Amino acid sequence: MTRSQILQALMQELGALHAEPLSRHTFVQVGGPADWFIVIRDRDALIDTIRAAHCAETTLTILGAGSNVLIRDGGLRGVVLKNESRDCRQIGETTFEVDSGARFAALARSTARAGLTGLEWAAGIPGAIGGGLPTNAGAYGSDLSDVLVAISTIAPNGESEIFTADELGLAYRDSKLRSGELQGHIATSLTFQLQRGDVYASLAEIDRVEALRKTNAPTGPSLGSTFKNPASDTRTAGQLIDEAGLKGHRIGAAQVSELHANYILNVDVGNARATDFLDLIAHVQNRVEGRFGIRLQPEIAVIGEEPADGE
Ligand SMILES: Cc1cc2nc3c(=O)[nH]c(=O)nc-3n(C[C@H](O)[C@H](O)[C@H](O)COP(=O)(O)OP(=O)(O)OC[C@H]3O[C@@H](n4cnc5c(N)ncnc54)[C@H](O)[C@@H]3O)c2cc1C
Repeated sequence: MTRSQILQALMQELGALHAEPLSRHTFVQVGGPADWFIVIRDRDALIDTIRAAHCAETTLTILGAGSNVLIRDGGLRGVVLKNESRDCRQIGETTFEVDSGARFAALARSTARAGLTGLEWAAGIPGAIGGGLPTNAGAYGSDLSDVLVAISTIAPNGESEIFTADELGLAYRDSKLRSGELQGHIATSLTFQLQRGDVYASLAEIDRVEALRKTNAPTGPSLGSTFKNPASDTRTAGQLIDEAGLKGHRIGAAQVSELHANYILNVDVGNARATDFLDLIAHVQNRVEGRFGIRLQPEIAVIGEEPADGE
């Protein structure tokens, strides 16, 4: 049997879907097909599938909620794994190990209900905690680095490794998983240290955070905050885009939000293509650079292949 036949047999046994459109699995509802697409619901299956892909020498891409990626129209080769492994294990009075597919919003609420404080800021983030690691996800002045103790990973060579939070190079929307020597490591679980708190105060703070988002940020399919705030200016990316006169600017299905200029919306879901978003991103970067001399850098990860000619 060739490696590709072994992979095909393995994927069929695991119930993987062939040529699955990734637009069904990203928040912005854009993205070409995955060769093989599989949903994983527990940590052992996650580890086994990563190792199987490694043995079959195929490319593997992990997604959580797909809320921080723009996948090109040519899609992704190899195996795409959607991580819905969400168990949570208490390992100390205020310390928890949580599977990397757990969603921020659910974790913020469940820890608050358990009388623990420290994750309220994360209540409105639509993604998974593992997907938030490469960018050190954060909001309202807090981020993962404030509560993270350690992570367990599978390295690109298939080996299990543990890293303390200090070893991850967590910085503003960056880490060694995104742009350093830990690229390619897949987090299987994250260990958090929270504090004893007041249930009602934490739940009230979560309500406040959620209400703020409803007022200040659009709902519906979008890339969320598309660009990082620049280090070289006191203005946010959203303020620069607004001052460049780009609110409402549209290319195909991609439109700069009128409400929050750093959000790029999908305003024509059925016909949207990643190229619309890539073209609008480039237009925003060029216009802001032309006006203010600042090249905005994407916060989102742009992954996948260009479509073949004529598609
Ligand atoms: C409306 C909206 C609001 C948002 N608000 C915020 C906000 O306030 N603050 C903020 O920081 N972000 C925000 N985001 C971005 C996003 O929700 C977070 O970054 C989130 O944590 C990403 O998780 P995900 O599961 O969706 O990741 P995905 O988009 O699925 O993946 C993102 C990247 O992480 C990689 N990845 C996924 N899982 C793992 C893993 N287990 N190990 C290693 N790498 C992995 C993927 O391969 C990909 O490169 C927002 C997005 C939207 C659409």
